[in-house]
Amino acid sequence: MRLVLLGPPGAGKGTQAKLLQDHFHIPQVSTGDILRQAVADGTARGKQAKEYMDRGELVPDSVINEIVEERLAAEDCRTGFLLDGFPRTVAQAEAFETMLERRSLVLDGAVSLWVPREEVVVRLSGRRTCRQCGGMYHVQFNPPANDLTCDRCGGDLYQRADDREDTIEARMEVYDKQSAPLREHFREKGMLREVDGAKGTDEVFEQILTALRKAA
Ligand code: AMP
Repeated sequence: MRLVLLGPPGAGKGTQAKLLQDHFHIPQVSTGDILRQAVADGTARGKQAKEYMDRGELVPDSVINEIVEERLAAEDCRTGFLLDGFPRTVAQAEAFETMLERRSLVLDGAVSLWVPREEVVVRLSGRRTCRQCGGMYHVQFNPPANDLTCDRCGGDLYQRADDREDTIEARMEVYDKQSAPLREHFREKGMLREVDGAKGTDEVFEQILTALRKAA
């Protein structure tokens, strides 16, 4: 199974990606997670990406395409993968399609999650992320037992710099201008599977499975 997850920040891509990863036994490839790791490791790529990420802007396509190309060549992606947060521009989608063609692979679907704008702001501004395992919490809807630590691994919880309210606005603008056109791109290719992301986690997951089954 080869899937792409589309949707604005806060649509629940990361949450659904983890469920899909377990269900289909395919790795979640999150370009955001790979970049945050590069920033934490202080690599040259991380240093270059950080300034864009902190402003809520997109990291240049050339950097992202290289990361994805490297990651998809890994052994665990041989039987499938789930891309979370990539592609984010039509140019990235085209580069991705070339990568697939070169490997004679086909995409099974592009799942697009949609949630209303007001909901996105509430979800993102309350989000807390574990520094260690990437686990996600929400101060109101899914609070950890202890304010500052992850229930699963005991790691520190923090608010991503780009989840602060001033940056959320910038990220939404970037989404509207650069990423929203991807829905049309995948619709034209007959790949788009639209799902209402405003429902509860389990319901959204069921809707995704149904949309993929219908398309098969
Ligand atoms: P995410 O965790 O997917 O919300 O990504 C966090 C940030 O990483 C984004 O706001 C961008 O700055 C950067 N990023 C992640 N994926 C991409 C991508 N496909 N293209 C450009 N920038 C990206």
